[in-house]
Amino acid sequence: MSCWQMRLLISEYFDDELSDEERQAVESHIVLCGPCYKEFVEMRALVGKLKRALAPYRFTAQDKEALLERLQGEGS
Ligand SMILES: [Zn+2]
Repeated sequence: MSCWQMRLLISEYFDDELSDEERQAVESHIVLCGPCYKEFVEMRALVGKLKRALAPYRFTAQDKEALLERLQGEGS
């Protein structure tokens, strides 16, 4: 798998949107590829920071749905 495909998977990796196979592909690629490993580490740090920043404002499932609806409404 090429590096640019990896970068896409890496961003989804932390959203928990990957299948086991894709996660494995990411994990085995970053062991061998310095630039992608760096990307992975930076993404992990960023996601960690975001999660800490948002932790006091945890959305309930209902809030999330309302927010999504509002966003979709603005889009059309
Ligand atoms: Zn790579």
